[in-house]
Amino acid sequence: MPRVTAAATAASPSRAVETALEITRINFQKAATHLKLDSEMQTLLSTPFRELRVEIPIRLDDGTLKVFVGYRVQHNGARGPAKGGIRFHPSVDLDEVRALAAAMTWKTAVVNVPFGGAKGGITVDPTKLSVKELERLTRKYISRIQLLLGPYRDVPAPDVNTNAQTMAWVFDQYSSSNGYTPACVTGKPVEMGGSLGREQATGRGVAFMVREAAKDLGLKMASLRVAVQGFGNVGANAALLIAEMGAKVVAVSDVKGGVYSAKGLDIRKLQAHLKAKGSVAGFPGAENITNEDLLTCDCDVLVPAALECVVHPGNAARIRARLIVEGANLPTTPAADAILESRGVTVVPDILANAGGVTCSYFEWAQNLQQVFWEEDHVNKELEKIMTRAYRAVAARAKQDKLSLRTSAYTLAVERVARAEKLRGT
Ligand code: NAD
Repeated sequence: MPRVTAAATAASPSRAVETALEITRINFQKAATHLKLDSEMQTLLSTPFRELRVEIPIRLDDGTLKVFVGYRVQHNGARGPAKGGIRFHPSVDLDEVRALAAAMTWKTAVVNVPFGGAKGGITVDPTKLSVKELERLTRKYISRIQLLLGPYRDVPAPDVNTNAQTMAWVFDQYSSSNGYTPACVTGKPVEMGGSLGREQATGRGVAFMVREAAKDLGLKMASLRVAVQGFGNVGANAALLIAEMGAKVVAVSDVKGGVYSAKGLDIRKLQAHLKAKGSVAGFPGAENITNEDLLTCDCDVLVPAALECVVHPGNAARIRARLIVEGANLPTTPAADAILESRGVTVVPDILANAGGVTCSYFEWAQNLQQVFWEEDHVNKELEKIMTRAYRAVAARAKQDKLSLRTSAYTLAVERVARAEKLRGT
């Protein structure tokens, strides 16, 4: 597989908003500079290990043939098998997958679980396909990338628009050619070897990060007003658990719009409303708002939990939250980061804040390899231990080296991966 040089993938500097790839590159660069990493190691760590682009032809329900395009990028495997989700979205392209794969390398390193980083995706609007078509698409994609996969090579998981059902198809497709292999994918349904607690794990991790960062800022959970963008796996579970910890969730949104209530939203009722109406918008007793309104609404904590690049220089100065906890991957551009930092807004970065999912995926993988099953309470306690420990390490390094939490998290992660590369003798 050809290795891609930084120069070959550099995006136009004239664009006002950085792309996902530029965001990971700039964040990596800040840490590499802080660590005084030599240029060879910088090249090694900023270059994806392996990239695969595949054609995925499937028969639609009406009998016509449609060809989709999919990708799998393994960014780095120095610390363990490559690990990262599979995304189904119209915006998926090679650069986005590259960026998300690199972010996974830093994420697994910052929480210190024994994985590297990868990501996959198909350029598709899944809302336009039936369940049978999605199953055919998933199976064909896996059959075309499976030469890269395996419990000790590369272990996929869910991401935007994929879920436990998708992972069950991944498991079945991989196992049909390789024999029963539950550890080949995580985020599976519990009945198929999935871990208890995995569904809520990313949102739970986000809630722990809100609690820990609030503590450091001298804020009490009970006094917090929280806004959450995105009400899918990460956003809805984070909202639910943050509310259970005593804070008030005042605003949430999804792709169709959002709602605000200064009194606080009942998250269980909101989930029922979403199920019945297909959106959180129109929730009785709350004011309808746009996604842009949500980002700048009157709140103490903002949790972006949808897509990347939503906090940019065009809105960073208007964000009223004191604390941002990044449920989504790459939601803040570096230019926005600089504005937020100058305004004293604390940002718990994505590679730490949303690492609860991959941490629980590590528990699932370990359970599958050993053929043992953990109680949910045990999963949640171990998750809390790892996430809290990672937050404390990042906060301590930030204080010691006078860094933002983001650069501190990248610094810890890059240091660990560089050390592993050195020990392996690269
Ligand atoms: P999901 O598909 O379950 O939910 C996505 C949510 O975002 C939905 O509510 C959707 O309506 C909303 N959304 C989509 N486009 C939007 C837009 N343009 N504006 C506003 N809202 C929009 O996805 P998810 O698994 O919750 O993932 C959300 C984010 O969290 C992604 O960045 C993903 O990479 C990241 N993440 C997910 C996990 C995980 O375990 N699922 C782990 C780590 C990070």
